[in-house]
Amino acid sequence: MKNPAVFLDRDGTINVDKGYLYRPNECEYLDGAIEALSSLDSLGYRLIIVTNQSGIARGFYSEEDYRSFMAWMIADLKDKGINISGHYCCPHLKGAIVKKYDVECECRKPKTALFYRAAFEHDIDMEQSFAIGDRFRDLSICKDGQVKGILLGSGEEDIQPAFPYVRCADWQEALECIKASSRFHDNLAMIFNNSTKVILFDSLDRTLFTMLCEELRDKRKENIEIWHSFSDADSGEHIKYIEPKQMKKELDLYRLYEFSDRITVISDTDQYGGIMNYVKNGVMTLEEAVASLLYSTSGD
Ligand SMILES: [Mg+2]
Ligand SMILES: [Zn+2]
Repeated sequence: MKNPAVFLDRDGTINVDKGYLYRPNECEYLDGAIEALSSLDSLGYRLIIVTNQSGIARGFYSEEDYRSFMAWMIADLKDKGINISGHYCCPHLKGAIVKKYDVECECRKPKTALFYRAAFEHDIDMEQSFAIGDRFRDLSICKDGQVKGILLGSGEEDIQPAFPYVRCADWQEALECIKASSRFHDNLAMIFNNSTKVILFDSLDRTLFTMLCEELRDKRKENIEIWHSFSDADSGEHIKYIEPKQMKKELDLYRLYEFSDRITVISDTDQYGGIMNYVKNGVMTLEEAVASLLYSTSGD
């Protein structure tokens, strides 16, 4: 069986980005990083670091310095219960002062060569994997539509990449997001096998939305529709855009009664909670949806 992985940026993601770090005594881990990485490790994810180190091309430190720093970091993380499966580094920079590294390479992120090399060497199941970083270029592997992206922190607010991603304020949120997504992914089959005919997706979680749509297309479930409110999303046959206002109307109590055994609502707010107390199989928050899917498989 192939392995799920989390592709990790290093600076600004595992450690605080102080600029061109290569001395162990200057390494400071990001808040929550150790706890989250150790959870991801126990959940069975291979942890793989993919990092641009233009400091090498700029002559600030050598490849040897990089390697000895990484040896220290990997041992230190190991002491903290975290296994790093591999680390991949681009030392290049076009126009750099150290001529050896003045290369227009295929490995500097946002290029994806290092991700694919890592995936090959560690036998990675890309569809079950995540990329996490503080810059969009750390998520460039997500453009092929398999790996899910998580942007950590509040940087790069003005850029909109051409692939779905989730923004998480900190590591704690990122961990929750991965847990929910992976359980959700495992249990998509259950959504599609129950009596659901319409899935009303009222959430800003594009990763989950994309996964739902892909699953729907793959399985050619012609009797299921997803209603959603992403106006810019690719609206396939069974994927219907409806105006957010209209969506609220569709949730009108009586319509819901009429549809209650045919509709599953996935929402990350509980604003419909009051209404839905009256309707079985109704509105759930993302977490509730995951939990109910997990526990609804008794026997049949
Ligand atoms: Mg970074
Ligand atoms: Zn490179």
